[in-house]
Amino acid sequence: MKECIFCKIIQREIPSTVVFENDSIVGFNDISPVAPHHVLFVPKNHIEKIDDLTPDDHSTIGELVFQAKEHAKKLNLVENGYRLVFNNGKDAGQAVFHIHLHLLGGRVMSWPPG
Ligand code: AMP
Ligand code: ZN
Repeated sequence: MKECIFCKIIQREIPSTVVFENDSIVGFNDISPVAPHHVLFVPKNHIEKIDDLTPDDHSTIGELVFQAKEHAKKLNLVENGYRLVFNNGKDAGQAVFHIHLHLLGGRVMSWPPG
């Protein structure tokens, strides 16, 4: 997608701190972190939101979750815990319409979310 900011990050057309990459997904640091560790994991193919997923996307979404938990291990977040979040649509506060999994850790988080 030409105007998608995350597609541009994936294509290295705009700068970001990439912390993980494989054939299907990329992980990079959030530009405005809301926790000491805040990493976004995105599929390389452009999918706008969770609502648009098809059965063909299952393995990619599984890969996002799996690599996020592997990365949490590398960041030493396993003992204290961490949060994985998909915001879907307007009421959830989704701002970038290219699916992304937030990995948040390094502080105590409240529930319910705001
Ligand atoms: P969401 O509200 O779930 O759509 O989250 C979008 C996230 O993308 C926010 O946490 C933003 O800080 C983050 N973000 C926006 N632009 C960039 C960028 N250029 N590089 C890294 N993260 C970004
Ligand atoms: Zn995109």
